[in-house]
Amino acid sequence: MTAEEFLTRIDHLWVPEPNSGCYLWTGGLLDHRYPSLKWNGKTINAARKMAQLKFGDMEGLVTRHICNTTICINPDHILRGTVSQNSMDIAPELRRQRSEHAWKKWQIIN
Ligand SMILES: [Zn+2]
Repeated sequence: MTAEEFLTRIDHLWVPEPNSGCYLWTGGLLDHRYPSLKWNGKTINAARKMAQLKFGDMEGLVTRHICNTTICINPDHILRGTVSQNSMDIAPELRRQRSEHAWKKWQIIN
């Protein structure tokens, strides 16, 4: 998939959030928290795909959100990091709350 194909495909799947600058995902979610879409029968994590377009190689790396909004796909809000960096970012309880928060936010915008 080219960057253009991807961006065209997701064009109607997000809405800008004026306060935070987040691009909130309105498409499907994986595990109630990760923006996802189907592409040729495969499920793709849209935030991860965005990170790939921005940084290139994501082999062995995970996406991190500086806005702490997992359903955000604004490339300016997405960093790449290691799994341990990502777990250090947030404690499990906080991660659970944010997951719930992302899910509620997604339900509101849908
Ligand atoms: Zn964001």
